[in-house]
Amino acid sequence: MNKHNAQFGTIILPLYKKYLEMLESKFSGEVDSSLATRIVMATDSSMYEVIPQAVLFPRFRKDISLAFKLAQRTEFKSITFTARGGGTGPNGQSLNTGIIIDTSRYMNKMLDINLEEGWVEVEPGMVLGQLNLCLKPHDLFFAPYVSTENQATIGGMFNTDACGKGSRIYGRTSDHVLATEVILHDGTKLKIQSVDVASIQEKIINRAHLKSKAITGKVLQLVEEHKAAIKDKFTSTYRLTGYNLQNIHDEIANTFNLNYLLAGSEGTLAFVSKLKLRLSKIPKYREVIAIKYNDFIASLADTDELLKFKPSAIEAIDATVVRLAKQDVIAHKISNLFPKTDNENIEPSIIFVEFTEHSQPALDTAIAVFTKQYLKSDKKHILGFYHATNKDEINNFWDLRKKGVGLLANLPGDAQPVAFIEDTVVPPENLAAYVQDLCTLLDEYKLTYGMFGHLDVGCLHVRPALNLNHQNHRRLVPEITDKVYKLLKKYNGILWGEHGKGFRSEYVKDYFGEALWPVLQNIKQIFDPYNKLNPGKIIPSSDNNKKNVVAVAGPMRGIKTQFISKTYKQDFLDILRCNGNAACMDFRITQTICPSFKVTQNRIHSPKGRAMLLRHWLYVESTNKK
Ligand SMILES: Cc1cc2nc3c(=O)[nH]c(=O)nc-3n(C[C@H](O)[C@H](O)[C@H](O)COP(=O)(O)OP(=O)(O)OC[C@H]3O[C@@H](n4cnc5c(N)ncnc54)[C@H](O)[C@@H]3O)c2cc1C
Ligand code: SF4
Repeated sequence: MNKHNAQFGTIILPLYKKYLEMLESKFSGEVDSSLATRIVMATDSSMYEVIPQAVLFPRFRKDISLAFKLAQRTEFKSITFTARGGGTGPNGQSLNTGIIIDTSRYMNKMLDINLEEGWVEVEPGMVLGQLNLCLKPHDLFFAPYVSTENQATIGGMFNTDACGKGSRIYGRTSDHVLATEVILHDGTKLKIQSVDVASIQEKIINRAHLKSKAITGKVLQLVEEHKAAIKDKFTSTYRLTGYNLQNIHDEIANTFNLNYLLAGSEGTLAFVSKLKLRLSKIPKYREVIAIKYNDFIASLADTDELLKFKPSAIEAIDATVVRLAKQDVIAHKISNLFPKTDNENIEPSIIFVEFTEHSQPALDTAIAVFTKQYLKSDKKHILGFYHATNKDEINNFWDLRKKGVGLLANLPGDAQPVAFIEDTVVPPENLAAYVQDLCTLLDEYKLTYGMFGHLDVGCLHVRPALNLNHQNHRRLVPEITDKVYKLLKKYNGILWGEHGKGFRSEYVKDYFGEALWPVLQNIKQIFDPYNKLNPGKIIPSSDNNKKNVVAVAGPMRGIKTQFISKTYKQDFLDILRCNGNAACMDFRITQTICPSFKVTQNRIHSPKGRAMLLRHWLYVESTNKK
C-alpha cells in the first residue's frame, strides 16, 4: 500500500466488508468489491474521480430492497448508496464514496408494453437507444432525447430530467413519465403517479400505502405553506428542474404527482426501480436546413426569429467545432456542406434547423415559408445553406452535432476540454448577449474552447480546455464557475440547465435562497432522513453546513494523474487523454467498438475501463518508485 492509496480511498472499511459479506448470501445479483471494478466505477464522464467501497449489480428489484433493509441496522447506519446507469453524467452525478448500484448490467429490460394505449414499462438500466430500437417497428418512440442515446439509461435520464434536441417541442423526461416504482432508503417499495389531492385523506390499506400517504401529505403541506416562494422561483426561472415543487401540484386538476419532485433529483430521494413511459408517434416527414454563417454571435441573435417558424429543433456548432469536424473521420459524411465554391478563408459556424410534420405537404409548406422569409431575406451574416431531404444526409448532420464533445477532445496540446459550465441555459432572447459576455470572460483567461448547443431552448454547451494535471488550471474551475454563475444571474439563466448538478451542488443554496433552501432540506429529510442516498449531491438532509454538499473544486482526476511520471505520461499519452465520455460503450451491435464490453457487459472490458485501470496502475507504479 503506498502513501497515496489511503487518500484515494482504495481501502475497504471494515464496516462495509461486514455489510457486503452479510448481503452477498441473499443478493441475487453481483456484489463486487474488487479494486478493478471500483477503479472503473470511480469515474463517469466528468473530470472527477471518487473510488467507491463496492459496486452492486442487482438482477431484480427485490435486490435493492434487500440491500437497503440490511443497511437499516444501527451498525450500518453510515452506509450510503448511489445509483448509476450509463455513467454519462458530466459532473460526477453518479460518483460517491459508499456503495454504487449499477442498473445497466442486468436491470435493463422492457417489462410491458401497450401499443394501443401508447405506453411501455421498463427497468431503469435500459438504454434509450435500445428502447427506441424496439419501438421503431411500431412507428413509436420515447421522445426525450440525449446525445448519449446509445449509452445513457432511462433511470439516469429520469434522475437528471434529461432532454436535448427537440426539447422545445417534446419537453423533458419528466413530461413523459406516467408512473414510477421507487425504493425508499428503508427498502419500502412505492408506486408514484398522479393522485387526486382528495385521495390523500382516504383509508389506509397497507404499510406501503401508509408510507406513501405520509410522504405525499407532508410534501403537500410544505408546498401549500410555501406556495408564494415556490411560484416566485419556479415561474421566474427558465427551465429549472430537479426537486420541482411547482409542477407537483396541478391546481386546476387538483392532482399531486411526486414524480416531478423525483425527476432530476439525482438519486438523492429514492432509488427508481421501474418506470412507465408515455410513447409518441415518430413524425414521418423530416427535413433539415444547414445554414452557414460568418459570425457565430450574430447567428445566435437570430434565434428569436428562427423560433417564429416553429421548427422541431435549432442546433448550432461554432467555427471551432466545424474546423475540427473537417479534420475528423466524420468529414466525408458532411462534405456536401462544403462545396469547392466556398471561400476557404472563412471558417463558418452552422445552425441546423429541423422541420418535422406528419404529412409531406405540411412539411413543404413549412420549409417554403422559412426559405422565403428567412433564408432569402437580406442577411449579411449568412454565407449559404444546404437543404437535406434524404434520411442519410440528415442522420449525418445529427451525427456531426452529436459528436461535438468528441471533436473538441481532438484539440491538440495538454489542455483538454472540461465540463463544468457546459450546459448553461438562458432564455433564447438573451442567448447572443450572454454568449458574447461568456466569450469575453473566457478570452480574458486566454482559454481555447468550442461551442455548440440547442438554440431553441437557450442551452449552450461549452467546454474550456484546461490541463487539470496542474494546480493552477484546477484552481480555474471554481473561479470561472463562480463568474459564470454571476453572469447567468444577469441574463436570468441557470448553471445546470440540462445535465443536472453533481459536483455543482454548492450553488443550490444560493440559488434557492433563504426562502426555499429549508424547504428543499425538509423534502430531503422526508425521503432520506439519514442522508444515505447519493449524499453530498443537491442538498444535505438536515445539517445546514455547506461542507456537506459537494463542490466544483472536488476530487479531480488530475490530482492523481499529476503524480504519474513524465516518461509514463509520454508513453501512455492516449490512455491519459481518455475523457471518459463513454462513447466506446455504445450498445449497438452494428458499432465496432467495443466487442468485449458488448459480450461481457462488464465496463472493465471496454476501452474506457482499460484506460482507467492503466491510469491507476501508472499512478501506483510512479508513486511506489518515489
Ligand atoms: C457527450 C455527452 C453528451 C450529453 N448530451 C446530453 C443531452 O443531450 N441531454 C442531456 O440531458 N444530457 C446529456 N448528457 C448528460 C448525460 O448523458 C445525461 O444526464 C443522461 O441522462 C445520464 O444518463 P446515465 O444513464 O448515464 O446516468 P448516470 O450518469 O449513471 O446517472 C445520472 C444520475 O442519475 C442517478 N440515477 C441513475 N439511475 C438511477 C436510478 N435507477 N434511481 C435513482 N437514481 C438514479 C445517478 O445517481 C446520477 O445522479 C451528455 C453527456 C455527455 C458526456
Ligand atoms: S476510451 Fe475513448 S471513447 Fe471511451 S470514454 Fe475514453 S475517450 Fe471516450
